[in-house]
Amino acid sequence: MGVQFHDAAAAHDEARDWRQAVSRGLKGRCPHCGNGRLFRAFLKPIETCASCGEPLHHQQADDLPPYIVITIVGHIVVGGILLAEKYGDWPMWWHMALWPALTLILSLALMQPVKGGVVGLQWAMRMHGFGGQPDRPERQPTPSPGPRP
Ligand SMILES: [Zn+2]
Repeated sequence: MGVQFHDAAAAHDEARDWRQAVSRGLKGRCPHCGNGRLFRAFLKPIETCASCGEPLHHQQADDLPPYIVITIVGHIVVGGILLAEKYGDWPMWWHMALWPALTLILSLALMQPVKGGVVGLQWAMRMHGFGGQPDRPERQPTPSPGPRP
């Protein structure tokens, strides 16, 4: 008996370059073909790529894109505040005007590209049904325990 791989569908399918898929997702393009649009609204991915027909409804980016955006924006804004405090002599109203606005603008600007990158990574890693297998195994109904004696 040999070793059996659980992901047999992936073994005979083409290799997926995760760097290319993430790059395409960051640009808002289908991770498979790079031509079709990935989003139909700000953060709503399309169901199926209009260009290549790749199903993209399997994505489950969930909370990862906001976590990544918070990490990126936090490092930029907190680093900027610390540098401005150490080397600048800014009036307080400059700080009050700049940092909240920069936080909002960067967060909105980064959210869609980061979500696209996460979807691209999920596609490349064949996560959540992107590999052709069902997203989750069907749950078997649990037998009723019946009346207690
Ligand atoms: Zn496509």
